[in-house]
Amino acid sequence: MDDVVDLTRTFAKTPRVMADCRQFPSEKNCTLTLSGKVDEVLAAATAHAVSAHGHTDSPELREQLRQILKPESDLLPDLDQSIRKLA
Ligand SMILES: [Zn+2]
Repeated sequence: MDDVVDLTRTFAKTPRVMADCRQFPSEKNCTLTLSGKVDEVLAAATAHAVSAHGHTDSPELREQLRQILKPESDLLPDLDQSIRKLA
């Protein structure tokens, strides 16, 4: 059980966010999700939006992407709950 407690602490210490491409307006039905620290996800999401969706890198695009970022725990409630149960 100690391993699970450590895992829970690690999650708490390193809040990550997720960007779900399904929430971004797109005609591609893209299902990519990115997770990491805010800066990491924004950088990766911007690169993805430009290369995969043909967007132009701009402050407006970054602002739109920033708006779809969610705390990882919001999008992984099942995982979060099962970790809590085990702990
Ligand atoms: Zn995409």
